[in-house]
Amino acid sequence: MVGAGFLGAEAAAVARELGCSVTLVDPLSAPMVRQLGSAVAARVAALHTARGVRVRCATGVVGFTEEGGRVAGVRLDDGTEVPAQVVLVAIGSLPAVDWLRDSGLPVGDGLLCDAFCEAAPGVVAAGDVASWLHPDHGRMRVEHRMNATEQGMAAARTLLGQGQPFAPVPYFWTDQYDVKIQAYGHPSADADFTVVAGDPDEGPFAAVYGRHGRITAAVTWNMPREARTLRAQVVERAPWPVEAATAHG
Ligand SMILES: Cc1cc2nc3c(=O)[nH]c(=O)nc-3n(C[C@H](O)[C@H](O)[C@H](O)COP(=O)(O)OP(=O)(O)OC[C@H]3O[C@@H](n4cnc5c(N)ncnc54)[C@H](O)[C@@H]3O)c2cc1C
Repeated sequence: MVGAGFLGAEAAAVARELGCSVTLVDPLSAPMVRQLGSAVAARVAALHTARGVRVRCATGVVGFTEEGGRVAGVRLDDGTEVPAQVVLVAIGSLPAVDWLRDSGLPVGDGLLCDAFCEAAPGVVAAGDVASWLHPDHGRMRVEHRMNATEQGMAAARTLLGQGQPFAPVPYFWTDQYDVKIQAYGHPSADADFTVVAGDPDEGPFAAVYGRHGRITAAVTWNMPREARTLRAQVVERAPWPVEAATAHG
């Protein structure tokens, strides 16, 4: 499995449950580290390792080897090779904006919009292609279905002259083995991080992320009830839990 983001990590879990021998490779330090921050990503790595997946993070892929016209292995940047009968590559996507480059519209990592999802007067964007200014989190682009739906409605309101800054609390979940991870907000890697329930080394847990004394995101690990409670705190940007020790996540 090349790429340990959402899709690679989920596919690794399914393949392993089907009895396949699985190696998960990613140049980043841990699976899903961009989405979850390093503390929770380390737990994801431990989960996969405990289930028998060989996790080769902080390791890039430089090429494939072949035998008889089909793949036989994956060459890694540390000089080693992983034998493979099947390779699944899940290394992310890029917004298709090349066709807009000469249009005069602002293009970067997507179509660059303001907080109202507007790129230019009368031109709005929604969904995976839209990079917009979130009032709380700054410029962001979200690749989730629910965001595409909500942002489509926000962009339509802008066109109708009823626009408001689009400020959703991003939400995603992922099911891997018997674990459901749920995240609200934007769990950035450089935010303060603290565990508020459970045991982050073993069993279910819930954690919050904070910045400037406010809760900005929450992640739960097999704790759906806590997820709902913490969502409210993320929405309200509740004060950072003063009694808890903080560490960088
Ligand atoms: C393998 C995979 C699994 C996923 N799983 C999940 C999941 O479990 N949950 C979740 O929330 N999200 C998931 N996603 C993400 C989700 O699919 C996207 O967030 C969602 O489809 C975004 O909708 P969209 O309308 O912005 O873009 P898309 O669904 O990509 O639609 C864009 C459309 O625009 C067309 N297009 C492109 N250029 C032009 C052009 N110049 N002119 C006209 N048309 C054009 C494309 O052909 C395409 O039909 C997954 C994505 C992938 C790839």
